[in-house]
Amino acid sequence: MALSRREFIKKCVTGTAAATLGGAGLVTNLFAGGAPDRGGVQIGGATRRYIDLERSGELERRERALWDLYNPCYLCPRLCGAKRSSGEVGACSAASSFRVASAGPDFGNEAPIRGVRGSGGIFLSNCNLLCVFCQNWQIAHRGDGRQTSHAELAGIMLDLQRRGLHNVSFITPTHLVPHLVSALRIAIAGGLNVPLCYNTGSYDSLEVMRLLDGVVDIYQPDFKFQDSAVATRFLNGAPDYALHAAAAIKEMHRQVGGMLRTTGGIAYRGMVVRHLVMPENLGGTDVFARWVASELGTDTHVNIMGQYRPMFRAHEYPPLDRRITSAEFNQAIRWAQEAGLVNLIN
Ligand code: SF4
Repeated sequence: MALSRREFIKKCVTGTAAATLGGAGLVTNLFAGGAPDRGGVQIGGATRRYIDLERSGELERRERALWDLYNPCYLCPRLCGAKRSSGEVGACSAASSFRVASAGPDFGNEAPIRGVRGSGGIFLSNCNLLCVFCQNWQIAHRGDGRQTSHAELAGIMLDLQRRGLHNVSFITPTHLVPHLVSALRIAIAGGLNVPLCYNTGSYDSLEVMRLLDGVVDIYQPDFKFQDSAVATRFLNGAPDYALHAAAAIKEMHRQVGGMLRTTGGIAYRGMVVRHLVMPENLGGTDVFARWVASELGTDTHVNIMGQYRPMFRAHEYPPLDRRITSAEFNQAIRWAQEAGLVNLIN
């Protein structure tokens, strides 16, 4: 049976939450390895601001504001207005509950984020972006995953921390932000203190991003397309993608800066802007690189990604039906260098 937040916090204090969540099958042993550190917000030289927000009551206020955007749903720029609490679904196919597809060590991130033990990746089901070339279409489009309560998600977060992973990373979080903040508050009560990462396709609303100021430690936005017609075609009709992505990424930059800050080589705050190189430069890498240089700064951490694979319905949209060539990737790197970007990482 799912626990209420009050019940869960009480069980955290008495140390019985692990057994409860372990019984749900997603968490092995919540508090194995010692009691959680509740001693302060200064952690390994970094300040975990979400703990401050919780202590001051501000995180509860943000949580309420996010839920106010949920029903009808105006969480993302698609502005569906779906009454999700009543079971209506919008473009993202997510209704009142949410599903988690998987959770565990993720080594697919940039070096300061994956570190040596991996990032604590939580793959969330469904997506508001819906790329025709989706690399995880079973999760994003079909919605594969297991229905999960807030208390269970908090338990997953605490388990990833207990296992020594460097952070907790929400992957494809945009359509579920109120759920994530509700779960985060429970996890904080249970002792969560690792950096929180927000790994997004960047079709995020500015209003939601402002409400995440101080909640998220590390942003990993993927800025996919620059051209409205291209975005309309490949992102399930999102002609305003570049406009909203640019605004959201600038807000992320305002909050945490454009560089990953590290301690012992491991990131604890900051941002890395990602960009997937597409066949025939459909992603507009040259435009992207110049935008980063002029709007965020040439020292911004940028990951120019060369791993595009034709997946899902990509075969219906040539030239998306092929991988990129080495010449295309090298040209993308040259554009980044010509724009003056000096912190390319992967
Ligand atoms: S989060 Fe989903 S339901 Fe809400 S506006 Fe975006 S696509 Fe529509």
